[in-house]
Amino acid sequence: MFFEKLEILKKKRLLRNIRNRESPQGPKIRFGGREYINFSSNDYLGLANNPLIINKIKKSIDDYGYGSASSRLLSGGSILHKELEDRLTKFKGAESALVFNSGYSANIGIIPAISDENSVIFSDELNHASIIDGCRLSKGKTIIYRHKDIPHLEDLVKKEDANSKIIITDTVFSMDGDIAPLNDIYNICKKYRTLLYIDDAHGTGVLGNGRGALSHFNIKPEPWIIQMGTFSKALGSYGAFAAGSRDVIEWVQNTSRSFMFSTALPSCIIAASIAALELIEENPELIKRLWTNRNKVAEYIQRIKFNSMQSETPIISLRTGTVENTLRISGYLLEKGIFAPAIRPPAVKDSRIRISVTATHTDDDIERLIETLKEV
Ligand SMILES: *Cc1c(COP(=O)(O)O)cnc(C)c1O
Repeated sequence: MFFEKLEILKKKRLLRNIRNRESPQGPKIRFGGREYINFSSNDYLGLANNPLIINKIKKSIDDYGYGSASSRLLSGGSILHKELEDRLTKFKGAESALVFNSGYSANIGIIPAISDENSVIFSDELNHASIIDGCRLSKGKTIIYRHKDIPHLEDLVKKEDANSKIIITDTVFSMDGDIAPLNDIYNICKKYRTLLYIDDAHGTGVLGNGRGALSHFNIKPEPWIIQMGTFSKALGSYGAFAAGSRDVIEWVQNTSRSFMFSTALPSCIIAASIAALELIEENPELIKRLWTNRNKVAEYIQRIKFNSMQSETPIISLRTGTVENTLRISGYLLEKGIFAPAIRPPAVKDSRIRISVTATHTDDDIERLIETLKEV
């Protein structure tokens, strides 16, 4: 039944396949029996396979077992869930926090929970797919503003006279690696009394000494700001969170359907997130190393005159034109033992090679990437 549809995708060269890793995540990975230097992971700090964290996971399995067997509102959560929320509340400077099962689940749960039929949501056109889906599930109206276009945003906000307005933005845009102008957005929120909902998936553990985008911009966590973020990127674990004022978090806990009707994360995953938070608080040099590597790659790439779009973070996308050309370059890199994925529509409008730099890449890894890019 879907055969013809698949054929069309194949003809457009938009059919994707899954690569199954034969090694842990890390700066080097194996698949198909071969080792590659890995520039595709969001494991910015190399915590996805950290021995200290693994030991804490093992201990948590001894203490709390493995499966969680029900939703958090029944008996699925352990005291580790609460400990993680308490730590996170402090880490994000908020009043309260709630753990979600994934970033996707957080966005599709929280956005409908904090809006109703009288709300207007203003959403950046390059926001993550899970925000788009959260807006689709909301009973409110969604208005898309041009990417990081502050005058456009202000114009749209000014024109609407709803009594509940919410501005939603990624802090770090996951495909271009640029940063939202949160200081300007903050001012608009203040001026027009709107809520601000930020998705700090790629900011947490990366920006503001790891504390995320608000810290990066020196913005105080106000009661009208909701910080969403994930444990699945720089923290190397799995799951997500919302942090904000006490009443918002309690409201979300009581109305967010993806929280209410889904089994709690296993305690061992929560233990990993706690250990990762501890690690980045105690080892600021980890994040420094990430930025040293990131700046090195960015500088080299400028020198060899690739168009790295608007990258300001460890996500560096190279504009490569057509789907054909993008696949050719990504194929050539693979041949040379470098995994940097081709990103094509519908994930993005313009095809690109997306490079994620991590703290665990060596100088040698970086030089091999640049040498190989020079050859293409
Ligand atoms: C990855 C990502 C998500 C989804 O998080 P998961 O934990 O992988 O489900 C949400 N928002 C943004 C901006 C992301 O980059």
